[in-house]
Amino acid sequence: MKSYDADLIIVGGGLVGAALALALKNTTLDIILLEGREPQLDWPLASWDQRVYAISRASRRLLTDIGAWPLTRPERLCPVSAMRIAGDQPHSRLEFAALESGVDELAFIVENRELQRALWLALAQCSNVRVITGVSAQGLEISADAAQLSLDNGSTLKAKLLIGADGANSWVRQQRDMPASAKSYEQYGVVANFACEKPHYGVAQQWFMPDDILAWLPLPDQQMSMVWSCYQDRRDELLGLSADQLAARVSLAGQSSLGSLKLITPPAAFPLKLTQVPQIARSRVALVGDAAHTVHPLAGQGVNLGFGDVAELAKVLASVHPERIGDALVLRRYERARRESVLLMQTVCDGLQSLFNNHNPILKSLRNIGLSMTDSVPWIKRQLIRHAMDS
Ligand SMILES: Cc1cc2nc3c(=O)[nH]c(=O)nc-3n(C[C@H](O)[C@H](O)[C@H](O)COP(=O)(O)OP(=O)(O)OC[C@H]3O[C@@H](n4cnc5c(N)ncnc54)[C@H](O)[C@@H]3O)c2cc1C
Repeated sequence: MKSYDADLIIVGGGLVGAALALALKNTTLDIILLEGREPQLDWPLASWDQRVYAISRASRRLLTDIGAWPLTRPERLCPVSAMRIAGDQPHSRLEFAALESGVDELAFIVENRELQRALWLALAQCSNVRVITGVSAQGLEISADAAQLSLDNGSTLKAKLLIGADGANSWVRQQRDMPASAKSYEQYGVVANFACEKPHYGVAQQWFMPDDILAWLPLPDQQMSMVWSCYQDRRDELLGLSADQLAARVSLAGQSSLGSLKLITPPAAFPLKLTQVPQIARSRVALVGDAAHTVHPLAGQGVNLGFGDVAELAKVLASVHPERIGDALVLRRYERARRESVLLMQTVCDGLQSLFNNHNPILKSLRNIGLSMTDSVPWIKRQLIRHAMDS
């Protein structure tokens, strides 16, 4: 009789790893969730996280089913009623409205830490998940029937299956020799939050410019969150500005559409890259979330793709005998099920990034004509809205 400390160990308790543990709460699996950092459950309510996500309707359904969404606080959420996209020529624009699709909202904007808090609270009620925080994995050994982890507190843990939910630079992926190709966009996502002079009415806005992509996401209380994807020169310029200068610069870049702005959360910059991992499952190990893929944030789909992994992997694991959860054949079912959606999203985001961050005059005309044409053909718009909401 083999002895295990758990059926399943998840390394990484970010949004995706924590959601996976919760998605398995109604199974007989005994789960350990390991997170290097300590959870943050409280913060001054007047402050807003720099990391803010557009959660698709499909992700919200998953988060509701696993019991996390109801634990988010309504006053920290902002429904997106419409999305306005502008090209870099006058009159080239595309607008999607929730009402056109017969839904109340296209997505919800929520802070990273608010969603993470809801996941921690829901996990506290799960009898089959043990959460270990403040401890990191340091060593991994794989045998025919187990994955054994050594931790930086000196202890070891053995399980039938190990999940790498440990982010874009995944330690698990490297330990298990799962090759990843990373293409740096040589760009950064500069994020910051602002209070706005004018109401945003729940409209998300995006401007495609020759070198930059600027997105404004609506936040509660007449505030908004910016993601400005740009090259290093612009990043240095933006991070070097005073609070008032940055607010004025961002307002100008967004054509003063929300009037004057006031900085409420200082800016931070994240390097942007495309990560492709051809094999996300091997015997005893599978990857989810940013460990398995990263995309350019222009479509706001990174964490939504991770929640798609959660839904699929939980379905596969719940459908097999607990003894078989680490079998390569079982895990390959998960890998196959995710391949197409992940590749599609990576190709679309990568294609849009190269189409728009490009000075070729022919491409410039084509992309702007493309935006306006899409705007004028209702059935194409409906298809795009449906895909964005349900991915
Ligand atoms: C500028 C920017 C804007 C974005 N905007 C959006 C958006 O609007 N919508 C969207 O869907 N996505 C967006 N994304 C993408 C999104 O941030 C990621 O897809 C998401 O955070 C990935 O979650 P994750 O849980 O997979 O990984 P992470 O959030 O990276 O979590 C990994 C966790 O693993 C832990 N960990 C790592 N190694 C170990 C170890 N050895 N032992 C124990 N624990 C470990 C870490 O502490 C961390 O908590 C954006 C990304 C950027 C850069």
